[in-house]
Amino acid sequence: MFDLQNLVRENIHRLKPYSSARSEFVGDAEIFLDANENAFGSPAGGGYNRYPDPGQIELKCRLSGMNSVSPSKIFVGNGSDEAIDLLYRIFCEPDRDEVVICPPTYGMYCVSADINNVRVKEVRLTDDFHLDVPAIFGAVSNLTKLIFVCSPNNPTGNLMRRESIIELTDNFNGLVVIDEAYIHFADAPSMILELQERPNLVLLQTFSKAWGMAGLRVGLAFAEESIIELMNRVKPPYNVSGIAQNAVVRALDEKPKIDGWIEAALQQRARLMDAFVGFKFIDKVYPSDANFILVKTIDADAIYRFLIEENIVVRDRSNIERCAGCLRITVGTANENDRLIASLVKFEQSI
Ligand code: PMP
Repeated sequence: MFDLQNLVRENIHRLKPYSSARSEFVGDAEIFLDANENAFGSPAGGGYNRYPDPGQIELKCRLSGMNSVSPSKIFVGNGSDEAIDLLYRIFCEPDRDEVVICPPTYGMYCVSADINNVRVKEVRLTDDFHLDVPAIFGAVSNLTKLIFVCSPNNPTGNLMRRESIIELTDNFNGLVVIDEAYIHFADAPSMILELQERPNLVLLQTFSKAWGMAGLRVGLAFAEESIIELMNRVKPPYNVSGIAQNAVVRALDEKPKIDGWIEAALQQRARLMDAFVGFKFIDKVYPSDANFILVKTIDADAIYRFLIEENIVVRDRSNIERCAGCLRITVGTANENDRLIASLVKFEQSI
């Protein structure tokens, strides 16, 4: 049986969270002398001499409307990487507890585990990069607190099967964390509606990808209210800057622009796929539900270095398990992709 209270670390149970000035007094006043800010102003303008809202209320209310989820089920973090780290710190007792990760996948799940001294059980994806559900259950022990699933997965690009995720969630007593960083590029909805019936599901999303705000560092977690409450208790009080909160609130009005960019990225993705298939030094082009494409090549290092000479940087993933010879290539603008394809033609002529 899933029981959140049993999953939480003892020290977090006992934690009396820091109470910030801006959470103790919320409302309008004329003179604020409660937070030791600079009362004279900010050289950056914009009211940035004041601390930002620690509860990110305006942003959460807007996100609540857009996602049909109560604000109390939304966590806003300094990138979704912050949410990943918080989940470890809340649920995993160092040097004792375990998590399950399905490589090849996003590297931070493992790095965060290492930082928090949490044991990782790796259950490889299947040959076609899907979840090996029986093997995952085989790896789960009574110390397993979290299972991380990235869908669409980085670096392979594919969505995981919905039925597999549901099966994991419905038969695991810990939390299943679905990282939907690239969901906006997939031809499938977010799993957000599944939250209603699944108290052990945590969804991660980010403004760093489709939303085009990687530099602002804003990520989201959607989950049951009691999980979000724990995340809010453990996060640093002012974890998301005022600039970032304001910019994201304004950007939410630009949804049509984002949809247009997603559409353009999908067209460019299809175009790159077609082009890649034609190169003889590319052995395999993996299907993608994201804004990048994984390709298996005859010599990842040589192509990587050739492209650097051409002033184009892609990601060499050939060192990670199951990705020998692989490059991960982000979908660029039409002009950038013209340049990429032209350089790859040049590479082909050189071999
Ligand atoms: N999840 C995945 C799958 C990612 O690829 C990344 C960034 N590369 C992140 C999370 C982190 O995103 P953020 O910028 O929100 O910290």
